[in-house]
Amino acid sequence: MSESKSTLAPNGLRSFTVKHAKAKDPDQEYRCTLGVQLSGGQAQYMLILATLPKDDPYATPASSRLSSIITSHPVESPDAQGHYKFYMKTYSENEGVLEYLLDAGIIERDLTASPVAQGYVTFPLVRVKIPIGEMAKVCNGCERWELCSDERRMRGCSGCKPSGKAWYCSVECQKRAWRVGYPAHKEVCGK
Ligand SMILES: [Zn+2]
Ligand SMILES: [Zn+2]
Repeated sequence: MSESKSTLAPNGLRSFTVKHAKAKDPDQEYRCTLGVQLSGGQAQYMLILATLPKDDPYATPASSRLSSIITSHPVESPDAQGHYKFYMKTYSENEGVLEYLLDAGIIERDLTASPVAQGYVTFPLVRVKIPIGEMAKVCNGCERWELCSDERRMRGCSGCKPSGKAWYCSVECQKRAWRVGYPAHKEVCGK
């Protein structure tokens, strides 16, 4: 096991290094941050590249989704310490990422529940160890992001509950996400 590579950048963002089995060069290390995208209380976690590699601007895991919506097991409210748990997708574009996130001290396995089976694959339950304020929030319309505690650009949806606000970088993104998306925001806003 390597030592933890998680650091707090001067802007307050928690960033860390992962390798990625599906990258063009599987030995390349990517500086990433963890993002959370909320839509009417439904949280999705994303890996976001903190530093884009010059030669491969579209390299994964720029916006790898760490969870996919399991309708039977949506991401619930944070626990008493303010940390979220979710069932993490560990195959396909996320292959190998769980191990690097464990190593960097970003998440830990939660063994209080069994993995959820979906077809031939299973999703292990994980707990996010870093507080939400050290993550990025992600626009619900276009996946632009900023630090969760930063109020400069993103605006929260006024129809959503404070615990699960969807964020938007622009009026255009909010209008589009209201009608389009999985789910469209009008289906989940305020619920
Ligand atoms: Zn946007
Ligand atoms: Zn809303």
